[in-house]
Amino acid sequence: MTVLEVDGLAKRYRVRGGVVNAVRDVSFNVAEGRTLALVGESGCGKSTTGRALLGIPEPDAGSIRVDGVDLTAASRRDAAAARRHVQMIFQDARSSLNPRRRVRDLVAEGLVISGVPRAEIGPRVEAMLDAVGLDPARVADRRAAEFSGGQCQRIAIARAMVMRPKILVCDEPVASLDVSVQAQVVNLIQDMKRDHGLALLFISHDLSVVRTISDSVAVMYLGRIVEIGEVEGIYSRPSHPYTKALLDSIPVPDPGRPSRGDALGGEPPSPMDPPGGCAFRTRCPLARRRCADETPPLRRTADDRRVACHFPLGEESG
Ligand code: SF4
Repeated sequence: MTVLEVDGLAKRYRVRGGVVNAVRDVSFNVAEGRTLALVGESGCGKSTTGRALLGIPEPDAGSIRVDGVDLTAASRRDAAAARRHVQMIFQDARSSLNPRRRVRDLVAEGLVISGVPRAEIGPRVEAMLDAVGLDPARVADRRAAEFSGGQCQRIAIARAMVMRPKILVCDEPVASLDVSVQAQVVNLIQDMKRDHGLALLFISHDLSVVRTISDSVAVMYLGRIVEIGEVEGIYSRPSHPYTKALLDSIPVPDPGRPSRGDALGGEPPSPMDPPGGCAFRTRCPLARRRCADETPPLRRTADDRRVACHFPLGEESG
């Protein structure tokens, strides 16, 4: 069952000297028990998209339906109730937790604000700490500042999951952790998804992690989705030249194989002054005249993928 439907999402920021279109016409669905990854270079709009689901910030246009409730059209009360089904964990769990507060209070905070009866809160907090691999008897009365980055991410996951969400937005959840801890946190997120039937929106620049955790993937460039579809199909046969360049930039662990780390040349253009036509044309090895004249729409391909390119890979003769 689809629990998250995003349609035509847009967010603009006024900055000195102009306007930045951080997100433009972004649409996707996520079903219960499925993971959609949002990937792309820094500044592509993936975090803004994730945060818009929680209203931080509110989008300028488009709709966000959570379990059938349109957050952008519902009354304030109904939207707030539906938003409780959406929880988020952030890259730097340490700075997202008040270091002076006790773990018990940090995890309980959302329940207290939501008016959950006091007698229910303690048992729910302790059960969730246990579920994320932290012994409540040892950690609940200690302060967040006493814990490592990996342990703080576990506390943050407990704080989100204790609200019994239907959707969990994970914004670069392992990017600031030691490699040895990353796999543990990824496994914990996977366990939570399986045990609670969550829909996951997994925002990451790490395409190796994305492949292991996701069912589908949306590739973003300068605020737009340029390719979206099932993860295995996209990883084995990317259609958009930007997707291919990103995948070719994944470091190759085998020293006997040539590095392709420079596959994505140059920097993205300024979001304040994006190129006309296809925004990727200034870095695209396949760019032609039409790419400057017309913005390619996101259109469905034969394998039920959607791609925004006039000359998708595998169809170059078109
Ligand atoms: S539309 Fe043109 S410039 Fe844009 S990705 Fe496709 S081939 Fe490259």
